[in-house]
Amino acid sequence: MGYVRIVVENVDFSYRGLFRPRGKPVLRGASWTVEPGVTGLMGPNGAGKTTLLSLLVTLAAPQHGRVLIGEHDVSRPAGRREARRLLGFVPQRFSLAGELTVADTVSYAAWVNGVPRRACGGAAAGALALVDAAALAARKVRTLSGGERQRVGIAAALAHDPRILVLDEPTVGLDPGQRLRAREVIARLGASRTVLLSTHLVEDVAHLCERVGVLAAGRIAFQGTFAELEALAEDSDPGRRYGSAFEHAYDRLIARVGATS
Ligand code: ADP
Repeated sequence: MGYVRIVVENVDFSYRGLFRPRGKPVLRGASWTVEPGVTGLMGPNGAGKTTLLSLLVTLAAPQHGRVLIGEHDVSRPAGRREARRLLGFVPQRFSLAGELTVADTVSYAAWVNGVPRRACGGAAAGALALVDAAALAARKVRTLSGGERQRVGIAAALAHDPRILVLDEPTVGLDPGQRLRAREVIARLGASRTVLLSTHLVEDVAHLCERVGVLAAGRIAFQGTFAELEALAEDSDPGRRYGSAFEHAYDRLIARVGATS
């Protein structure tokens, strides 16, 4: 199966409610192309990263603009149906039933995502192997460490063998050793899939992501390689006393966009 791109075209989104019929805009004319491999989504807290990810995985719909998953336009029901088969999503917080075994948990995720019942056990075993968790299969979920639980969550999202994997802050709450392991697993998955993760950790981006999107003021203010963003930093800048070239370039970008929005 080939690679799948994600294309976001001129998307507007605001959360609307009974008392806020117009809503506060979160995304305003956001456009982005997510290529195969591993891409990081960065941006200040509250910039709308989780919101943008929920639009990409069809949990919410834009009020304006389009989202394409491969050739499928997710604003149409048929497009959403096809897109969902291609998508695996690991939310920032997810709950798992503590008394189930790891194998049953991932097997159930396969079934929910349309894998025929008799193929679910094999699909679960395959997904657990992909995240180095085959040895956990017989364990009860409640006995897992934070890092193990995170890998089982990724296996559940992979159980229907999606071409795209979307992860919201996958390394939050992990200790340094667990974080390294999670990065290794995610990098490996990116070798044959389109992997998109949101993160606020520069090290995640530096060690893991081939490309970066920066969300600020409702738009993707930068998209490109890590090296391209780093090159925006001016080494001669007298204000630069700490941090990496990447952090410096990122700060300047946010300050510039913030000033013009
Ligand atoms: P990030 O992931 O970058 O921290 P979010 O997408 O969580 O940003 O939030 C973007 C903005 O949308 C914030 O101002 C937040 O308060 C608001 N927001 C997020 N979820 C909801 C919701 N369910 N209803 C109303 N407003 C929300």
